[in-house]
Amino acid sequence: MIPFISRASLSEQNTWITHLSAAMPDEVILPFADLTAEQKQQCDIAIVANPDPEDLISLPSLKWVHSVWAGVERMMHELSSPSFSIVRLVDANLANTMSEAVLAWTLYLHRDMPTYAKQQVKKSWAQQPMVLAQDRRIGVLGLGELGRVSAQRLVANGFSVAGWSRHSKQIEGVECFHGKDGLALLLKQTDILICLLPLTAETKGLLGQQNLSLLPVGASLINFARGPIIDDDALLSKLERGELSYAVLDVFAQEPLPENHPYWRHDSVTVLPHISAPTHPISASEIVATNIKQYRLTGNIPHAVDPVRGY
Ligand code: NAP
Repeated sequence: MIPFISRASLSEQNTWITHLSAAMPDEVILPFADLTAEQKQQCDIAIVANPDPEDLISLPSLKWVHSVWAGVERMMHELSSPSFSIVRLVDANLANTMSEAVLAWTLYLHRDMPTYAKQQVKKSWAQQPMVLAQDRRIGVLGLGELGRVSAQRLVANGFSVAGWSRHSKQIEGVECFHGKDGLALLLKQTDILICLLPLTAETKGLLGQQNLSLLPVGASLINFARGPIIDDDALLSKLERGELSYAVLDVFAQEPLPENHPYWRHDSVTVLPHISAPTHPISASEIVATNIKQYRLTGNIPHAVDPVRGY
């Protein structure tokens, strides 16, 4: 028996339980609310999607939880030193979906769509200077599961691509930077900055006044990672002053974005409702099933999030 623990609506939970049960017919998967006191004492695995931390703490035998989402920042933040491992979703389909969103919005910025949209409102017929993809410098922050595939897709589409990570890396066609000095070097040579970092104590507020000032005048930003990595006031002031030209934002410090937030009506901001890489329930359920079957066979817990590093 494996509980499915989530703060999602009951119908969303039932959809997940249906897909997970189809992927592992040998397991009984139950909503947390249906567990008996005895089952709570026994269960060693849980499958989670934004769980209430109190529910997890009420399971004394829990060894590990498998998230059906790739980002587990909220769970890491809400659970201080959990006694169980947290395994997040690593799905090639998700990385592909993210790289598609990265390519789509990079092309949007590269081909000056925001400018042409503003021109149309004014009935202005004006041709912007043409920039070849190879001359457009893209900087990708985070070269993990999502950043690496996104950077490679941009390279395959002819862009000049650099990336930044904590450790040094080699990715064909991508100029790789790492560490604090590496960040400054990357920012100084970036026309379109794409954020695919996890939210950790180190990345919170990373894109604030100081680092955003290193970008060339007129650069644009795409944030598909987590809202608090950006200092919203710093970004808004850079956009107001024309030092940055545009921001495509899919993630926010508060979601849904409050109605009175200035991003909603800013003509140099695109607001997206956290849709750049949604989890695909069938694909995710198969990956969760494979990991759980392997655990049942070997007792090995899959690679888990490092609680100290935060990702
Ligand atoms: P990941 O595989 O853990 O990769 C994280 C990358 O960030 C790694 O390259 C890591 O460097 C780098 N990094 C972390 N901390 C750093 C620091 N302090 N300095 C420099 N580099 C640092 O994560 P992922 O699967 O690619 O996902 C990234 C994030 O995307 C998630 O955490 C989540 O917030 C977000 N996400 C968003 C959506 C959406 O729909 N908007 C969907 C899924 C995920 P090393 O490689 O050197 O360790």
